[in-house]
Amino acid sequence: MHETTRREFLHAMGALALVPLARTEPDLILYNGNFWTVNAKAPQAQAVAISGGRFIAIGSNEDVLNLAAGRSRKIDLGQKTVLPGFIDAHTHPASAGRLHLRQVDCDLRSVAAIQAGLRERAGKTPPNQWVLGFKYDDTKTSDGRRLTVHDLDAAVPDHPVLVTHRGGHEAFANSLALKLAKIDEKTPDPTGGQFEHDPAGHLTGRINERAIEAFEKVIPSTETRDDYREGVKLIAKMMTKTGITSVGDALGSPEDLQAYQDARDAGDLPMRVYCFIYHTYIDRMIAAGIRTGFGDEWVRVGGMKQVADGAIAGRTARLSQPYIGHPNDYGTFSATEDELYENGRKAHKAGWQLGTHANGDVAIERVLSVYERINREMPRKDPRFRIEHCTVINDSIVRRMQALNAIPTPFSTYVYYHGEKMQYYGEERVQHMFALRTFLDAGLRPTQASDYPPGEFPPMMALQSEVTRTDMNGHLWGANQRVSLEEAIRIGTMNGAYASYEENLKGSIEPGKLADLVVLGRDPFKEDPSYLVTTPVERTMTGGKWVYEL
Ligand SMILES: [Zn+2]
Repeated sequence: MHETTRREFLHAMGALALVPLARTEPDLILYNGNFWTVNAKAPQAQAVAISGGRFIAIGSNEDVLNLAAGRSRKIDLGQKTVLPGFIDAHTHPASAGRLHLRQVDCDLRSVAAIQAGLRERAGKTPPNQWVLGFKYDDTKTSDGRRLTVHDLDAAVPDHPVLVTHRGGHEAFANSLALKLAKIDEKTPDPTGGQFEHDPAGHLTGRINERAIEAFEKVIPSTETRDDYREGVKLIAKMMTKTGITSVGDALGSPEDLQAYQDARDAGDLPMRVYCFIYHTYIDRMIAAGIRTGFGDEWVRVGGMKQVADGAIAGRTARLSQPYIGHPNDYGTFSATEDELYENGRKAHKAGWQLGTHANGDVAIERVLSVYERINREMPRKDPRFRIEHCTVINDSIVRRMQALNAIPTPFSTYVYYHGEKMQYYGEERVQHMFALRTFLDAGLRPTQASDYPPGEFPPMMALQSEVTRTDMNGHLWGANQRVSLEEAIRIGTMNGAYASYEENLKGSIEPGKLADLVVLGRDPFKEDPSYLVTTPVERTMTGGKWVYEL
């Protein structure tokens, strides 16, 4: 989409679109804007009128300004580009918010910087209380090695320290932490986990997989209901700043659901939440007569979440072909087909949408078998089965997804931000990963999904990643899966709304829909796609209110 003539532009805008019988006076009119509506019937507009948190009219400056009444506020957007608010369909806001509230963000570029962050936190923490770090990623530090027990002891000698890796499958402890967890050089490894030793037999401080549970037992859980609410408030502020107006919480608990409601009641929830409930809590929810869709346009109960396999970054996704350089390693399943089926059937029967985490092709096929069986035994109109991540695919997976009309929620920022981890998959396989082009060509509706904290959430980064398939170091991964900017925006807006059964409520700028939008500092359609990530988000609006202003 480049320069448009005035005639083309007016044609694209169509006639003034109004809510039927819109006699309501607008509360607010935004005019002189460059609106990309994601509404195929009228893709562009200059102005919108908003009343009661919804769009009531969209069209040219002249048409919309004519609707102004005495109390209508008018804001001149100065030709700025406006898009519908972004929908991050799979992320972990409530738990991420609590981490940001209490832990040190270790997404830093050197061991020294991480030591400084931990030392600073220790200075504000009474001795012997835990200092915790998260989002550490050894592949992103300049030192070319992992954190050690010595690094952590040097930084923080008088507090127990545990730093978890961004991938979620390893952690790093200092000496005091090892002592409190009662781990010494002779402690045997638990099943499915490891306390790493150096060649001389000394503990390195690195702890893998299920060995981390030894620490979870001794770290006191001090989070109060207020902490839960504050965590939601904090993460919502961080996310709306980047243009996100709706999220899918991909692994909610009843406490998370409560936290979202508490934040909303306190006036601290500037984004909308579709909250998946983890399968371990589902009986309580079903017993209460609750099913998918319960709630309102701010906090709504989503589907039931299950997990079929491991992670892409941790190289535990269950694959049909081994990891590059690890000839016997195919990844791991996290649940049997029977478990997925029993839980899925119960929830489906009670009216729940199903969302199942599956990264590797073998795991995805297992999930599809479960969905197909449930659908056959208990057909339900429009079940919108979701495959969370749906990372490594093949032709048969696509055909089976088409038959079910299943929804994939692939990582949107992975190529750009975590490109270096693609080497374990190889160039050939990467052509079938985060496969947006294939999904769109098959008529499926993939969403934008950060999976934060593992992945980054800014929608502008997602657009760049999806349009360029290039990582931050300039390496191209699977160029065959590129999509156009227009497609990427639709993926991040309308498709997210569809994935939560809310396509009539949001996802585009249309009369009657919720007034959720983002105002950008530059027009992404005029941008070199390699700089999309730098596009400034100047303002974010949810429900007709500015929730972020530069
Ligand atoms: Zn997730």
